[in-house]
Amino acid sequence: MTAYRALVPFSGGIDSTAALYRTLNAHRDASFLVFRVQLVNGASGSRAVMEDRAVNGILDSLRAMGLRHFTYRRLAYDYSQLGAPPIWDSEAVNFAAATCLRAHPEITEFIEGAIADDYLQPGFDDRLAQIAKILYLVSERTPETLTIHYPLRAESKAEVMRSIPRELLAQTWSCRFPIEGPAWDLKRCRRCHACVLVDRVLEAHPDEFADLGWT
Ligand SMILES: [Zn+2]
Repeated sequence: MTAYRALVPFSGGIDSTAALYRTLNAHRDASFLVFRVQLVNGASGSRAVMEDRAVNGILDSLRAMGLRHFTYRRLAYDYSQLGAPPIWDSEAVNFAAATCLRAHPEITEFIEGAIADDYLQPGFDDRLAQIAKILYLVSERTPETLTIHYPLRAESKAEVMRSIPRELLAQTWSCRFPIEGPAWDLKRCRRCHACVLVDRVLEAHPDEFADLGWT
């Protein structure tokens, strides 16, 4: 069985794509377990479709770039019947990740894609502490046996967007509540927190990211 160095949660969004790409690029001699937890809850069905499309496209591009030292696993939970999600998505993701860690005692690192802009949200530090607690409790690990890395924590959204190849960036999907566009396509809502952060970057650097066609 392959011995993995780190568990890398991957949603197909900008931040987790950057965390994954940069981790793979920096450690070409190790193997990584890339882990997607698809949550279907509340009104997130169309988001799940767009995230899956992003994930599959980005992983194919990484392989084409020669970054093949990872295994991809996907788990899906549908709790849409509960109505409004009873817990934060990040809590559900870390619970599932911790369960995965129990099956992989050789893994000593966990990659968390939080960026500097996230820390500006009220209560973000508390939420991050809470999901770290879930990860340690459920996996029965300690900070001595599992290190959580935050490779993007000092970077703004614009810096994170610049740090990855444009081919990858163009395939990411970050919108939480996609809306229906023409021809059955789904578009960014431009209202959710993720869209607002991206739109701020697009407004501040209109020429730099124009080719993405996200405006
Ligand atoms: Zn949105």
